[in-house]
Amino acid sequence: MACLPLRQVTLTSAYGYRVHPVTGKYAFHSGIDLRARNDTVFAVLPGHVSTVSFNPLLGIYIQLDHGELETTYGHLAQILVLPGDSVNAGSPVGISGSTGRVTGEHLHFSMRLHGRSINPLAFLTLIDIAHE
Ligand SMILES: [Zn+2]
Repeated sequence: MACLPLRQVTLTSAYGYRVHPVTGKYAFHSGIDLRARNDTVFAVLPGHVSTVSFNPLLGIYIQLDHGELETTYGHLAQILVLPGDSVNAGSPVGISGSTGRVTGEHLHFSMRLHGRSINPLAFLTLIDIAHE
């Protein structure tokens, strides 16, 4: 089973090349931005917490290891899990925020398959269809 990362998913910035909202430079956006306001963030698949960290761009973020896939959740205000924790699809893993380099609060969500960045929107769309 799989789950959406937020109770309600609204895309605010797509995957791919874009003019960065903060730097104004043309750069690759390796994930998608979703509208969020102090919202609970959920694990999209079962797995375990591989990274709980902070960096100046992503802010407070976590990474989940799902085997072949890895997911990242950035700009969090709070983290609800510890490194090594097991999660199920739908387990609360954090609370959205605006940490790191952002113009406003949102969830940055990205996905890697075998270590390569992929567009997570197709994945989320499939989950959405499956739940209808
Ligand atoms: Zn982003």
